[in-house]
Amino acid sequence: MHRVVTFIVVKDTVDTDIIVVSFIPRDRAERNPMSTIPAAFIGHGNPMNALETNQWTTAWNEFGASLDEATAILAISAHWYIGITAVTAMDHPRTIHDFSGFPDELFAVEYPAPGDPQLARSVMATLDPIDVGLDTDSWGLDHGTWSILAHVRPQADLPVVQLSIHSGLPLDEHLAIGRALAPLRDQGVAIICSGNVVHNLGRVEWGRPGQGSDWAEDFDHAASELLRTRPAEIAELLDHPAFSLAVPTAEHFLPLVYLAGLADAAETTASTLIEGCDLGSLSMTSYRIDD
Ligand code: ZN
Repeated sequence: MHRVVTFIVVKDTVDTDIIVVSFIPRDRAERNPMSTIPAAFIGHGNPMNALETNQWTTAWNEFGASLDEATAILAISAHWYIGITAVTAMDHPRTIHDFSGFPDELFAVEYPAPGDPQLARSVMATLDPIDVGLDTDSWGLDHGTWSILAHVRPQADLPVVQLSIHSGLPLDEHLAIGRALAPLRDQGVAIICSGNVVHNLGRVEWGRPGQGSDWAEDFDHAASELLRTRPAEIAELLDHPAFSLAVPTAEHFLPLVYLAGLADAAETTASTLIEGCDLGSLSMTSYRIDD
């Protein structure tokens, strides 16, 4: 049974000049129907990456350049972590500035890609019999999505739908949802999962830009080994000695599980888009799958 979900969202905006990127629609007929669209897990890190050009954002942009066969994006962001699996289904999802303490310039960013209600219904049908809510008027694009899409597709030329992460499911059920989403990759959909493999804000060391603590590097390498060789076994990371330090809360880690599920369904492995830690307790490592 499907339901329409309504969320109460505190809109966090500041009056300032609005930056609007032009929307250039793509012709769906351009796509080769035989193509399997690449998918990715992207470590999004600091929201300010939306405005910066650095080694991470350059890699995100390079990934985006490989999506020319795509007709839409399905984004799975750490920042839509709620008590249900839901999908956005509005024509024009709003840009949500779901953070505080950042410059006005960041609050001014708008990512004007349209939604795709038809794709939202396809996601529901693809995941059936998993219960999926259809969000017609509440969420939109949170910064886990738009801060990376500002670099992946800076022209906002593909419609974007977000899928929430159900906070009440065990890891193997997230893996199963990732597997179940795989057919969408053959229907023109670029699936982009956005989180961080290691994300412990309580352990941030501002004096260590571009570096990770030993435990963060260890965990990041263990995750890399699994993603690149045996993605279906990602649950092994729960037994890693640094798991509780690297993953103090699940939401930034779980998008990686969705990519592992997609890789498993395609009987392939992930390749590294870019690798590295930052500020001691964050991993910016990102992966892609192409098969
Ligand atoms: Zn985040």
